Amino acid sequence: MQYSKLCEVYEELEQTPSRLKKTEILAEFLKTLKHDKNKDVIYLLQGKVFPDYSEKEFGISEQLCIKSLSKSSGIPKDKIISEWRKIGDLGKVAEQIISKKKQGTLFSHKLTTEKVLENLQKLPELEGKGTVDKKLALISELLTSATGIEAKYIIRTLLSQLRIGVASGTIRDSIVEACLTKEKTNTEAVETAYDKANDFALVFEKACKGIKELKKITLSPGHPIKVMLALKAESIEDGFKRVGKPAVFEFKYDGFRMLINKDKTGEIKIFTRRLDNVTNQFPDVVKYVQEHIKAESFIIDSEAVGFDKKTKKYTPFQAVSKRIKRKHHIEKLVKELPIEINVFDIIYHNGKSLINEPFEKRTKLLRKIIKNKKYHLQTAKQLITSDGKKAEEFYKQALKDNQEGVMIKNLKSVYKPGGRVGHMLKFKPSENELDLVITGGEYGKGKRAGSLATFTVSCINEKKEFLEIGKASGLKEKQELGLSFTELTKKINHLITKEHGRTVNVKPKIVVTIRYQNIQRSPTYASGFALRFPRIIQLRPDRKPDDVATLKEISEDYNRHELKVRY
Ligand code: AMP
Repeated sequence: MQYSKLCEVYEELEQTPSRLKKTEILAEFLKTLKHDKNKDVIYLLQGKVFPDYSEKEFGISEQLCIKSLSKSSGIPKDKIISEWRKIGDLGKVAEQIISKKKQGTLFSHKLTTEKVLENLQKLPELEGKGTVDKKLALISELLTSATGIEAKYIIRTLLSQLRIGVASGTIRDSIVEACLTKEKTNTEAVETAYDKANDFALVFEKACKGIKELKKITLSPGHPIKVMLALKAESIEDGFKRVGKPAVFEFKYDGFRMLINKDKTGEIKIFTRRLDNVTNQFPDVVKYVQEHIKAESFIIDSEAVGFDKKTKKYTPFQAVSKRIKRKHHIEKLVKELPIEINVFDIIYHNGKSLINEPFEKRTKLLRKIIKNKKYHLQTAKQLITSDGKKAEEFYKQALKDNQEGVMIKNLKSVYKPGGRVGHMLKFKPSENELDLVITGGEYGKGKRAGSLATFTVSCINEKKEFLEIGKASGLKEKQELGLSFTELTKKINHLITKEHGRTVNVKPKIVVTIRYQNIQRSPTYASGFALRFPRIIQLRPDRKPDDVATLKEISEDYNRHELKVRY
C-alpha cells in the first residue's frame, strides 16, 4: 500500500475530534485492508511497528531525527533546531523542510507502508559498533523518498507521538465495524481476543474471517496476556453478597503481580502486569519455578512479595519495587531483597487453556502441581467458607502477617484476561487509594520554578480514554521513596506534549498511587468527579496506564459512600 494513503487517514483522524467519526474513518480504511495478506499496517495506526506484547523500542532520540532530517534535506542542524523551538513539534518541522525541498523535484519512487515497516522494524535489532550510523541510514532512506506529510508521520512514529487521538478502544470498535456486525457481543469478542493476544494485527486478521475464527485465538505460554483485575468490596458481608456462598478467601499479598510462563521446551518467562518481560531480573524465581512446580507447560498467576532477609517479616511493595526497575547487579539484589512467590491462579496447563474452567478446578490443580516452600514459592493461603466469623478471623490473620487484606473469589467463575470483574474482589482497610495516571502538570513558583509542583491525574473510561479527576501534590523536595519533584519532573519531561504558560499536557504513561480524603462530584474535571486532597504516595512502575482505576469503579464507589452518608 502507498504510505501516502495511510497518511491521508492520519490527517483525517488528526482533524476529527469525534470518537464516533474516528471509528468510521478507521473502519473504512480497515475494509480496504481486509484482503491484504500482511495486516501489520494496523500497528502503524497505533503509532508503532510491533504488536503490543512486544517490548522492542526504536531507541531514537529527537537529536537523531534532527540529524537525519538534516542529512536528507541538506538543511543545517541548527536551523532545524531553531524551527523546532518555534513550532514545538518535530513532525511539523519535518513536513515543512521536506515539502520545501521537494518543490519542483520529481520523485524517483513512492514510499510504501511495507517499506516503512521494514525499515522501522529493523531499528531495535541494531546493536554494537556503528549502530547510530545504521539507524541514521535507515531513517534517511525513508525521509529521502518521503513527501512532506509522509516525513511528518515518520518522525512522529519514531518519537512515539503520532497525535492522531486513536486509543485502543477506537481500534477495537473499528475492527468490529469493518469485519463483523455492530453488536455488543462482537465488541466483547474482539476485546477478549485482544486481551489474550495483545496483537491487533492478529485480532484483525481473525476477525476478517469471522467470529468463529476470532474465538479461536487462544493463549500460548511465552506470550504475555492481560491479567484479570479485581473490584473493591466494602466489607466481608458485601463480599459474600456479591460473590455468593461459599466464597474463597485468600490473603491479598502486598507485592507485585507476576505471570509465570513455561512452554513445552521448558523455557520460563516472567511478565509483569504491564506485560514487561522481567525474567532476567528474577533468576531466583526461575529456580523456584523449576524446583516447585511440576508440569510440562503452564501460565500461572501470582504475587511476588518481599520479606526482610533477617527478620523474615513481609515488607510492603515499595520495599521491593527496586527489583522490577533495576537491571544491573541482579545477584546482589536477589540476596538483599528476597521475594516469595504466592501463586493464586493457573490459566494454562500442559497444552490446554483453562480460562473457561471454574476457579474451583483451577485452584485444585494448583495445589496438585505445586510443592509449597515458604519464602520460595507456595500457593496463596486460602479459606473456603460461608461463615462470616471465620472469614473475619482469616482477614485479621492476613493483616497480622503484614499483608494488605483479603481477596474474595467466586468458586465457579472463569478467568477473564484484562477484565475487572465482580467475581474477584479485594478487601483491605482504609480504601482511600487509587492507582491513576499522570496526564498533566503545573510548574511551581519560586524555589520550585524549574520543577512540576502539581500533577494532574486521570482515570480511564470504558472507551479507554483518560479523564482528569484531580491535581495531586504531596511530594517533598527529597523523599525517602526516592521520588521528589525534581525526579518526577525528569521522568515526565520527555512525555510533555503541550505547554501553555505554566501548565503542561503529559502523555499518559506514569502510574502512581494516590491517597485522598474523599470523592466529590465536580464539573471542573472531565471525569465529573474530583478527589479531595489527593497526594502521590508511590510510583507503580509495574502497572500500565490502561489498568488504572476506571470511571465506573470510581462512580460506584462514590454512590456507595453517598448511600452510607444518607442512611
Ligand atoms: P489492587 O492492586 O488493589 O487493584 O488489588 C489487586 C491486586 O492484588 C492484583 O492485581 C494482585 O497483584 C494482588 N493480589 C495479591 N494477592 C492476590 C490473590 N490472592 N489473588 C489475586 N490477586 C492478588
